[in-house]
Amino acid sequence: MTPTDLPERKAYLLHQKAEHQRNVLGVFPAVYPREILWSLNILPVEIWDPPVPIGRSAAHVPPNICDVARRGLELILQGHCGDLDGFLFPHTCDSIQNVASIVNDYLGTGKPSFFFHLPRESESRAARAFYRLQLESLSSALRKHFHRSLDTGMLVESLQWGQRIDAAIRTLYELRGQDRLDVSNSRFYSVLRAGEYLHPSDHLPCLAQLIETTGSAKPPKTPVVLSGVLPSPPAFLSLLDELDLRVAADDLLNCSRRLQVPDGPAGNPYEALTDRYFRLPVCPTRNSTLAQRVNRLLSLVGSTRAAGVIFYVVPFCDPELFDLPPLVAELKKQGVRTLVVEAGLNRQLSGQVAVRVEAFAEMIGSGAA
Ligand code: SF4
Repeated sequence: MTPTDLPERKAYLLHQKAEHQRNVLGVFPAVYPREILWSLNILPVEIWDPPVPIGRSAAHVPPNICDVARRGLELILQGHCGDLDGFLFPHTCDSIQNVASIVNDYLGTGKPSFFFHLPRESESRAARAFYRLQLESLSSALRKHFHRSLDTGMLVESLQWGQRIDAAIRTLYELRGQDRLDVSNSRFYSVLRAGEYLHPSDHLPCLAQLIETTGSAKPPKTPVVLSGVLPSPPAFLSLLDELDLRVAADDLLNCSRRLQVPDGPAGNPYEALTDRYFRLPVCPTRNSTLAQRVNRLLSLVGSTRAAGVIFYVVPFCDPELFDLPPLVAELKKQGVRTLVVEAGLNRQLSGQVAVRVEAFAEMIGSGAA
């Protein structure tokens, strides 16, 4: 397996089941303790933007639900989840909560649903205790359903996998920020996102190989910061590549906002996982303040010398949209050029979106104010 030869998702999960006797859980966005699943020989397969046509979900959800939640529901309604052994719903936002309730209470999929509730306040003793309790109850529910026993050694090994993956991704971001990674936006994110379904023993070698593709991009591309939910649709990344815009850093829920900072000294695995959660980068789905978000974006712009910030926002994504107007206003006040694109995850980009991104690329490329 190499960064240019990633396996197709369905074939991969079938192979994992047959070869390693792994159970496979379909995991909805965004943050969940992947290490607990790995330690129980369960492969998480994340459901963010499946390329399914939109149709049946209209009978179950209102038109003003985000494209991420709608596509996940479509995937189930259209019968593409037959090989999964269940679903995991982290409590990320109201949209995911609605889908969780529809799938668990009404659809009769015959598959178990597991839930992972997240504390709504930043770190405090009560929030830490709540999070730790959620870890333990998820582990217990999975063990009971899949007839696994607690294996502390495997949990410790899984934590190490998680650390190594995050360390490799941090290195990749650093190289990318310094324009030393000779790969397109499309390739970079396809390898990062392969972690949504690859087992760490397969994802780690791909990340390591990508780190080796250092060189200096010729000619240098204009660096930008990408903010929003996920680096999708693929046509958007291809457009950035065509316009010679390099995503030098991102503030994406699906990518760097899930990247954990290095661990402190090893201790109890549940405590280590709790620490990791509370040290994640700021995110509106975790009630970060506007000031924290502005600071993070300014820091990403400063450290990568980005020429601007592009917000690619999924329509009806309330957590992102509530922050957006004051965030953009504050960045502009600080002299940062911004572009807001609100568009779905369709495979094709609209002409209007393409023209707006082209105009932005021209503006920041020419240095115009
Ligand atoms: S965070 Fe936004 S895009 Fe993601 S599921 Fe929730 S509402 Fe949808």
